[in-house]
Amino acid sequence: MTRPRFNRILLKLSGEVLMGSGQFGIDPAMCDRVAREIKAARGEGHEVCVVVGGGNIFRGVAGAAAGFERASADYMGMLATVMNALAMQNALEQIGVETRVQSAIPMASVCEPYIRRRAVRHMEKGRVVIFAAGTGSPFFTTDTTAALRAAEMGCEALFKGTSVDGVYDADPKKVPTAKRYDTLGFGRVLADDLKVMDASAVALCRDNNIPIVVFNIRDEGNLAAVLAGEGVSTIVQ
Ligand code: UDP
Repeated sequence: MTRPRFNRILLKLSGEVLMGSGQFGIDPAMCDRVAREIKAARGEGHEVCVVVGGGNIFRGVAGAAAGFERASADYMGMLATVMNALAMQNALEQIGVETRVQSAIPMASVCEPYIRRRAVRHMEKGRVVIFAAGTGSPFFTTDTTAALRAAEMGCEALFKGTSVDGVYDADPKKVPTAKRYDTLGFGRVLADDLKVMDASAVALCRDNNIPIVVFNIRDEGNLAAVLAGEGVSTIVQ
């Protein structure tokens, strides 16, 4: 099947990806690997912005379960995403990719505040923009942030980098006969509660006609391959 070329994309990186093979925190080698994926995509002329998660450091839901007030725990989770954003900025700049971090929670001495028009300008100039601190509001996730920023930035697709190569009808790690979908409708994902992204993120993408491309970011060269229509992925549209 021929797939459309997406010129401007948003890449969603969960905290879990940046953890590499560890159980917690940030793996510099993994940040470098992911940075090279982004550099390759840039090299093919794609404009790339990134939303990073924070689950490798702190998740609001887990914090609330441990006894913190939910909103405070969510702010802690958002601060975790800022650390991941700085790690990715560092990894990208070490390999010569100009990068800006914009935070939804203003942090003047660390990075820029989120300003949509400025972010668009950075992308037009070929810089990679990393969006940190989620939406800036508790009770949201970075999946929803990714859908929101993709819409705001006029992205043609949201690329969700995971550790599996698409969406399956069962867990491929547990069910050997599980089948991967090539394409899926938004309605099906929501009706069957398929774990692509959370429901609010999927609904936001559906309402704004932004396809979600689920692919394995751990396979070397895969982002550029999927962008070229060659790699393995599932498109939700
Ligand atoms: N978070 C939030 N509002 C947002 C985005 C994130 O409160 O708009 C908090 C929330 O506590 C979440 C944490 O930041 O658990 C880290 O984000 P997420 O769990 O989405 O990261 P990922 O699963 O992608 O690593």
